[in-house]
Amino acid sequence: MRQEKIVAITDSVTVGELADTLGLSVTTLIGELFKNGIAATINQRLDFETASIIVEELGLDVRLEKKAAVAHERKMHKLSDHAVSRPPIVAVMGHVDHGKTSLLDAILGQKTVDDEAGGITQHISAYQTERNGRMMTLLDTPGHEAFAALRQHGATLTDVVIIVVAADDGVKPQTVEAIRFARTAHAKIVVAINKIDKEAANPDMVKAQLASEHGLNPEEWNGDTVMVEVSAKTGQNIDKLLDMVLLVADMEDLRADEDVPAEGLVIEAHMEKGRGAVVGLLVENGHLKPGHYLVAGQAYGHIRTMQNFRGDTLKDAGPSTPVNVTGFKELPQFGDVFRIAKNEKEARTIATANRIEQEKLAATTNVTGADILKLMNQQYDSEDFNVVVKADVQGSLTSVVDSLKLIETGGEVTLHVIGTGVGSITEKDIHLATGKNTVIYGFNVDLPPSVKRLATRERVEVRLFNIIYELLDDAKQSMENLLAPEVVETEIGELEIKGVFRTLRDEVIAGGKVLSGKATADVLARVKRKGEQIAEVEVTSVQRQQQAAKDVFEGEMCGLNLKTTKKLNLEEGDHLEFFTRELVKKTL
Ligand code: GDP
Repeated sequence: MRQEKIVAITDSVTVGELADTLGLSVTTLIGELFKNGIAATINQRLDFETASIIVEELGLDVRLEKKAAVAHERKMHKLSDHAVSRPPIVAVMGHVDHGKTSLLDAILGQKTVDDEAGGITQHISAYQTERNGRMMTLLDTPGHEAFAALRQHGATLTDVVIIVVAADDGVKPQTVEAIRFARTAHAKIVVAINKIDKEAANPDMVKAQLASEHGLNPEEWNGDTVMVEVSAKTGQNIDKLLDMVLLVADMEDLRADEDVPAEGLVIEAHMEKGRGAVVGLLVENGHLKPGHYLVAGQAYGHIRTMQNFRGDTLKDAGPSTPVNVTGFKELPQFGDVFRIAKNEKEARTIATANRIEQEKLAATTNVTGADILKLMNQQYDSEDFNVVVKADVQGSLTSVVDSLKLIETGGEVTLHVIGTGVGSITEKDIHLATGKNTVIYGFNVDLPPSVKRLATRERVEVRLFNIIYELLDDAKQSMENLLAPEVVETEIGELEIKGVFRTLRDEVIAGGKVLSGKATADVLARVKRKGEQIAEVEVTSVQRQQQAAKDVFEGEMCGLNLKTTKKLNLEEGDHLEFFTRELVKKTL
C-alpha cells in the first residue's frame, strides 16, 4: 500500500498557494486546471472541492483535509493564564411559531421584538439577563433558511443553543436545521419543550422523536441531553431552563481576557436617520468604552455613544456583552471582527489595508467545485436569473443573499446576484439592472417615487418584501418560470389495424381492433410497423358500428379518422399507440 499524505488547506486557496503546499510547480497545476476547462492564473482562488478534484486528477498520493474553518481561526486572541470566567452566549432557535420570541419575552420579562415582520426574526438581536447573580447573553438569530448566513459567522458566536420545540407540534424542518447548526457550531444543546400548558401537548412524543431520529437522548432516559418542559405563556419552568443553561455552560469552562484591548464581532449594522451607522457589537475579550477607536473590516470610527439592548447608556462593556454603538463612518459587515486602534490615524490605516486586501481577494476570481462539475458535464443549457438585492440592515442582506443562493434548480437555471447593498433602492440600482433581465429585490426597504419612475421607464422590475419567506418563494417561482416545460406523454391504449379504407394526402380512414386500453378521439397516435415507429398521427374521430363514439374499449372493433402531416400508407397489421402529450410546467 502506498502511503497517503494528508495535507490540510483552508476553505479556499490560490493556485500559487496550492502548488506550494503540494510541492508542485505552478505550471503543472495550471496545466491540470486547464485540462479541466479552467484557465487559471497563479492568483486565482480555488475552493476546497475544486482543489480536491484536481489533486485526485493529478494522481498524487495526497488527501486534502479542511483546516478549521476561518470562523474558528477568528478566535483571534489566545487566552492567557489569568483569563476569567465569562457569561455564556446562548442562541435561541427553533421552528417558526414554536415560541422563540415568546420564550425570550418570558426570560427577559418584556416584549423583545415589536417590529418583527410576519413573526420572523430577520437579523440577530442580542440581549442579556441575570439569574442568581450570573449574567447570560441571549441571541435571537435569523430563523429558517437564513441559518445558512449565520453558519459562517456563528461558529464562534454561540456556546449554548436552546432549541425550542412546541410540545403540540413536535420536531419540524427548522428544528432539524437548528440541531444541525448547533452541532456545526460545536455548541451545547438544551431543548426547551414549549407550550406544555396546551391540552394537546405531548412532551414525551417530542422526546421520543428527538431520541430516535436525532440522537438527542433526554437525561431522564439515561441520555445526556438536557430537556426542560416549559410554557412561555404561563412562565412555568423558565427559571429551571435558565439554571440548566448555566449548568451546561459551566461544563464548558468559558473564559475571556479582561485586560486586553477590546475585540469581538459585528452582529448587526444599519443606518439610522440622525444617528448614522448604528452597529451591534458583541465583545469577546477586553472592555469597550465610549471614545475608543474601532476598526471592523473596511469600516472604522470612534465610539460616540454606547448602549445596551434596553437603550441604557453604558460606560463599559466587558466580555460577552452585546452593545449598540454609533460613530462608525460607514457600515461594517455582519460577522466582521472588530478591534481597537490607538487613534483615528491608526484606525484609518488598518481599515484601508483591509480594503486593499479585500479588493485583491475580489480581483482573484473564485472557482468552485460546482463550476468544474458543470464544465465536466457540459451543462451549457442553463438559463440565468439575475438579481440585485437591497436590504435594511447588513444582517438581513447576508441572510437574503445566502438564502437565495440555496435555491436548488438542478443546474438548469442559475441565479446570479449581480449587486447588493444596504438602504433604499437607488437610481444606481436601476441602472445596474437595466437591460439585463434583472429583478431588484428590496427587503424592508422603500422605493422612492423618483426611482420608481425611472424603474418604470427602464422596464426594470422592483419587488419589495418584508418577509424573507415570501421573497424566497417569489425568487423560486421566477426561477421555475424559466425552467423549460416538461413534456409528459400519457398512454391511453393500443389498436391493431384490420383494414384501410381510404388514404388521402393528409387523412387516412381505417378500422381495427382495440388490443388494450381504449381508442378515443382528439388524441395522438404513434403508428408502429413491426415494432418500429413510422409516423405520428392525430385521431380526429372514432366510430363504433359507423356511429361516432366517445370511447371504444379493449376487444372491440372500431373505425378511425386519422389526420396525417404527409401521405401515410397505413397497412393491415400496423399498430396504433394512442397517447396524449402535455407540456407541464416544471417546479423546483
Ligand atoms: P416564534 O415564531 O418561534 O418566535 O413563535 P412566537 O413566540 O411568535 O409564538 C407563536 C405562537 O405561539 C404565538 O401565538 C404565541 O402566543 C404562542 N405561544 C408561544 N409560547 C406558548 C406557550 O408556552 N403556550 C401557549 N399556549 N402558546 C404559546
